Amino acid sequence: MYNKNIMLMAGPTTIPERELAAMNRQIIFHRSQEFEDISLELTENLKKVFKTKNDVMVLTGSGTSAMEASIQNCFSAGDEVICVVLGVFSERMARMAETYGLNVRRITKPDGEVATPEDVMPYVTENTKGVFVVHNESATGVTSDIRAFGEALKDTNALLVVDTVSGIGAIDFAMDDWHVDVAFASSQKALMGAPGTAVICLSDKAWKATETSTLPTFYLDLTSARDMGRKGQQPWTPAIYAIIGLNESVKMIVEQGIDNVIAHNSKLSAMVVEGLHKIGIELFAKDKRYASKSVNTFAYDKAPEFVRRLKEEYGITIYNGQAHLMSSTFRVGTMGYVSETDIAAFLYAAEKVKAELDAE
Ligand SMILES: *Cc1c(COP(=O)(O)O)cnc(C)c1O
Repeated sequence: MYNKNIMLMAGPTTIPERELAAMNRQIIFHRSQEFEDISLELTENLKKVFKTKNDVMVLTGSGTSAMEASIQNCFSAGDEVICVVLGVFSERMARMAETYGLNVRRITKPDGEVATPEDVMPYVTENTKGVFVVHNESATGVTSDIRAFGEALKDTNALLVVDTVSGIGAIDFAMDDWHVDVAFASSQKALMGAPGTAVICLSDKAWKATETSTLPTFYLDLTSARDMGRKGQQPWTPAIYAIIGLNESVKMIVEQGIDNVIAHNSKLSAMVVEGLHKIGIELFAKDKRYASKSVNTFAYDKAPEFVRRLKEEYGITIYNGQAHLMSSTFRVGTMGYVSETDIAAFLYAAEKVKAELDAE
């Protein structure tokens, strides 16, 4: 019979109706006053989400473009950097750094585990130019303690570069208080925007590093993005619709208050974890304290069939496990535009599907 779509996405996430309405309009010129006003409103609100006094730049391109911008703008070929590798996304950053000729030392953890500063600090010397840590590894569903990394690295020469693509807007993050030097995210995860833009913020220490970086930059030059961004401008034709959409969704976050949004997500995540535990499905993360609350990841030997039936029989979208974890895990996104009733519906259906699979 009839099914309504309920989407618990790991990204892109559901677009709120209000944002859809904002994007449903005729195009505007990106050098117009109207676009400048939208851009400036967006970047001011993003500062509240990042908890920073520094500029937040909006780039056209997905989160990976901001990852590339952070390497191009802050580092030079031959620089020694440390990359914490927890899964597919943190491995991407390590490979990208190698592509640019950086000298990468990987600290690799088994799937479902995080690294702590104790694992990393023994390798940090005065020649270490950067430590790259993924805030929330969306492939394995674990969250790193970025505050602890910031505390450990703040008085070293190394920049703390954080991929918070699936973190910011859903779980705690504080750019300035935590001494993060570079943080970037995509529009289409917890920020609830349409795909097509990335956001990035640099500390004073990172801006200083841009002055000595010798890697070439052009499209993703952050100094011109910052200088033009202060006027509500962008160097090139930006993803205008995605920016209009992101402005609306970030406005929603700021209206609710970023801390309330995080608390809401945390509550939804707890509902999912508890509800699935009751039917015998447990978190994949080895240490529950580090389990992701935005991309909740569970171990289940019938995961692909579970995901397929939820969609087919109940109209509920959750995500398969990533890469080699495809057949043994599934992922439930609670970040973004998700309500308690969405979770209740998911748990209702999950119980039915699990019972079906158990009986076979
Ligand atoms: C989604 C994701 C990315 C990649 O972002 P794109 O917008 O797809 O380029 C990078 N890192 C993490 C942790 C992610 O979840």
